[in-house]
Amino acid sequence: MEKGSASSSPETEKTPQATSSTKILTGTSVIVAYAVQCDNCYKWRKMENEEHFEEFRCNHSADPFVCNKLSGTTCEKPADISFDSSHVWVMDKPNIPKTPKGFKRIATLRSDYSKVDVQYLTPQGKKIRARPGMMDYLQEHPECGPISPSDFSFEAPKVMRDTVPKHVVNNPASSTKKKRKLK
Ligand SMILES: [Zn+2]
Repeated sequence: MEKGSASSSPETEKTPQATSSTKILTGTSVIVAYAVQCDNCYKWRKMENEEHFEEFRCNHSADPFVCNKLSGTTCEKPADISFDSSHVWVMDKPNIPKTPKGFKRIATLRSDYSKVDVQYLTPQGKKIRARPGMMDYLQEHPECGPISPSDFSFEAPKVMRDTVPKHVVNNPASSTKKKRKLK
């Protein structure tokens, strides 16, 4: 698995709308790292895992992430990773709720890089792709506890076009491909 190289460039790109981001490895559409951008210095900090990432994401507007929320980290430290085209980046919307226990939120980049599909994996291993399905599921499974459909968000992260490989950008064909890639 590739490591993001630490870049000491002082001007890590500031992306306008979302401060939380998931990063996806080119080609295999597997997320290799989660990063959050500091509200002060705009550097990107890698998160240890998805749970950590979601903690910052869910509360982003009320309590923006800053470097010193990570122990031993300050804005003086070089960025953990830089926003560039060495990987494809996808940007989650801020304030997406933390995934309820037992569930997993899966973001899959389409092979033509056109968009990301979001689905949830239930504790029983069922994949759910939209809110109505989740409402049915929660009704059928009261044992999941006091969880409401609003604890889930199917809002797709945005694919950052600047980080998509050039040959794909220049050739936006095959966008009619079926979304059946999901497995
Ligand atoms: Zn900072």
